[in-house]
Amino acid sequence: MALLEIRNLTRRFGSLEAVKDVSIAIEQGEFFTLLGPSGCGKTTILRMIAGFDEPDEGEILLDGQSLAGVPPEKRPLHTVFQSYALFPHMTVAGNIAFPLEMAGKSAPEIRRRVGETLALVHLEDKADSFPHELSGGQKQRVALARGLVNQPRLLLLDEPLGALDAKLRVEMQIELIALQREVGITFIFVTHSQQEALALSHRIAVMKDGRIEQCDEPDQLYTQPANRFVADFIGKINLLDVEVTSSSKVLLGLHAEGLGDIAATDPRPIAVGERGAFALRPELIRVFGHKESADLKNSFEGVVRELLYLGDVTLYKVELANGRVIEALMPNAAPGRAKFHEVGDAVTVCWRHDAGVYLRS
Ligand code: ATP
Repeated sequence: MALLEIRNLTRRFGSLEAVKDVSIAIEQGEFFTLLGPSGCGKTTILRMIAGFDEPDEGEILLDGQSLAGVPPEKRPLHTVFQSYALFPHMTVAGNIAFPLEMAGKSAPEIRRRVGETLALVHLEDKADSFPHELSGGQKQRVALARGLVNQPRLLLLDEPLGALDAKLRVEMQIELIALQREVGITFIFVTHSQQEALALSHRIAVMKDGRIEQCDEPDQLYTQPANRFVADFIGKINLLDVEVTSSSKVLLGLHAEGLGDIAATDPRPIAVGERGAFALRPELIRVFGHKESADLKNSFEGVVRELLYLGDVTLYKVELANGRVIEALMPNAAPGRAKFHEVGDAVTVCWRHDAGVYLRS
């Protein structure tokens, strides 16, 4: 049985359907992420799980028991917010002890558990500090500790790293992964950052306009997006409008608008004449100097129009003969060489026939 089961959840605000018929089953110990653009309904789902809001339709079950009518403070879960929500007049230890005091735990137990939880978030030396004496990362660690001290069944995290600068955010991501692994508590994480979702999660539900577009493991989402929205939302991608020209057991012949014939692989039975999209990650495209070009199937000549040198990699925008621009990401792997091509260079772009994904929608 799943730890948390969300069944056909719908929430309306006036004429707006903020959450539309959402169903998810989350396992014990999972790091599960709700990912999507601003306004897609992530926080509304989290608020209904926490009990701050009630669904119009559907139900939420924890360990098979419906949470309908159970007030927030009676639910075995805790929410961590981006804003930390620490008590400013209490010390770090006081903030962490608060949920235990509310639960009526004994003084020795509180002391022991606060000590253990401070160690878990590496803040033993800050027990007597006040929130205003802490950095953003330290405040967020206190908020996490306060969320974990009562050993909830579920920890809900609403953009918890949103207020941190980029470097600290990455450090906290690494800490969060280690922390979740150590405590084994189920995390439900809300973010609009696809990088953060990919880095942290066991599974991700990608949302758009109140609906789940795809729910999968990070590498599946990245390599096998279900539709154009997911392909485009997760990472960089080239999306080509295509028509199916041939389909055998695994080989798919496609005609790409403004590009020509390309070869792809797809084991599904797909009708000739069907229209869809071909999604191709920039890092799976090679850019060769003109003379190096091989006589390959998915191979097109063009000119480098723009490039973005990023140190380890370079992003090339290559304009093909018919005006179509393809983005390719190449590692700058040669010693003593900053990048392989310059703006204005004539090049050939090519990719393996299994590099891209045909999207039916
Ligand atoms: P963000 O990343 O910006 O926090 P989100 O994906 O979490 O966005 P929600 O906060 O769940 O989105 O909001 C979903 C939609 O429901 C939005 O259009 C929002 O304006 C609307 N909404 C949320 N709460 C209410 C409310 N109490 N009353 C009216 N509309 C609301």
